[in-house]
Amino acid sequence: MNKTRIFAGIALGILMTLSQAVSVLAAGSTLNGCLDSVEGNAIAGWAWDAAAPETAQTVSVTITNRSTKETAAVLTAEANEYREDLAQKGMGGGYFGFHVTVDWESFPEAAYQISLSVSGTAVAKPLYHSTGSGEHLIPLGVFKTTAYCPCYSCSEGWGRHTSSGKMAAANHTVAVDPRVIPIGSRLLIDGTEYVAEDIGGGVKGHHIDIFFNTHGETRAHGTRNSEVFLIQ
Ligand SMILES: [Zn+2]
Repeated sequence: MNKTRIFAGIALGILMTLSQAVSVLAAGSTLNGCLDSVEGNAIAGWAWDAAAPETAQTVSVTITNRSTKETAAVLTAEANEYREDLAQKGMGGGYFGFHVTVDWESFPEAAYQISLSVSGTAVAKPLYHSTGSGEHLIPLGVFKTTAYCPCYSCSEGWGRHTSSGKMAAANHTVAVDPRVIPIGSRLLIDGTEYVAEDIGGGVKGHHIDIFFNTHGETRAHGTRNSEVFLIQ
């Protein structure tokens, strides 16, 4: 590669980074929010709209059974409780916290996803909670996720053959560093359940490579940071 082409490549890289940043801003709403915790029967969080910085938002907390996908409950609350941390972040007067109460005992034993929305728009990453002996989700932290497909440049001729002997399948197979995540582990990443059944030379530490059917999909995925849960 000559110097001109290297420079063009760097310039293109910078342009792509800039256009990604702009598209994230364009797609982003002025709504912010967070589900902070599930403690006993209380779910706490906050919501705030930068476009209406003194207005309390009505939030909906939706609890979905992870196995059956059924909605177990929808709870609404006014996000109008004072929180010093929000005031310090410059969010109006800081009166944007909320909590809702859930009677977990009345739910069947299962793993539940808890989502937060304002006027139908999701505003925070979901939380997970298990009742009784239901499936448990153990947070493993934030991992870098990349994507690969059966093409030669991704899989060097291995196609769908994984190191575990299983044939790779989309929405199912991921490659991991087996020193961090044992092969065979079930993982929840951005709402999809995967199985660790491959390894990769470049997959080290807190990095997960997600299998897709086509190279276009791997490009669309790019590199992300995602919270990963171990399903047990
Ligand atoms: Zn590929």
